[in-house]
Amino acid sequence: MTDGPAGVLAAGRCRRCSAELTAWERSRCGCGGPLGASQAETLYAVACSLAGPVHVRDLVRLALHDHQHAIAEASAKVAVASDRRFCWSGAGVYALYRHGPLPGPRNLEHVSRVVLTTAGGPLTVNALDYCLKALGYRYNPASLRNAVRQSRRIAPLPDGRWWHPVGEEAERTLIREVPVVPRQGHREWAGVRDALAVRVATALSEREARLRPVAEPERFGLDWGGQVSLW
Ligand SMILES: [Zn+2]
Repeated sequence: MTDGPAGVLAAGRCRRCSAELTAWERSRCGCGGPLGASQAETLYAVACSLAGPVHVRDLVRLALHDHQHAIAEASAKVAVASDRRFCWSGAGVYALYRHGPLPGPRNLEHVSRVVLTTAGGPLTVNALDYCLKALGYRYNPASLRNAVRQSRRIAPLPDGRWWHPVGEEAERTLIREVPVVPRQGHREWAGVRDALAVRVATALSEREARLRPVAEPERFGLDWGGQVSLW
């Protein structure tokens, strides 16, 4: 093996494919094929060969095609849901961190909590929706609204935005309830959090730039130049 004992660079990237690995993937990237004969290892190797999120049924199909490993869809679902190397990306859809979604969350409420924690302030559901789509999540917008409303950790503000506790204590609670990093992985959490904060800030400023032309009144022929009175 030429890529070092663990096949991992100090910066957390795979030596072979240079994908960014999470703390959950540090033992070895699956780009060189399954590490063992378990269903999870085969499914992980399949996910490593892909460019983005896919439905579990496609992971199963490719496990058979690429590795001659027959896996029932029901047991594949259990395997990926319980293995944090896989990032939930929508109903029955999974990806890896290198594809955009986050390790840990297994539903929209979890993802919303992680994003609101790193966003630097409360967000409207529409802004949150934009960030989640930018991260690669796919879902029905109504389910995001329900997830935020039903969360015990997310609270509405009078201005229509949604708030999640921030700060050290809140982050400790968050990663205990939504295992973005393994237990005791506070250093890794800081890395994921800071990288996510940049991605969220980028998505929000992109959204703002897109909305700006819509907000300009002349776009709708409403620039009356002060000559027309409403009366
Ligand atoms: Zn790799």
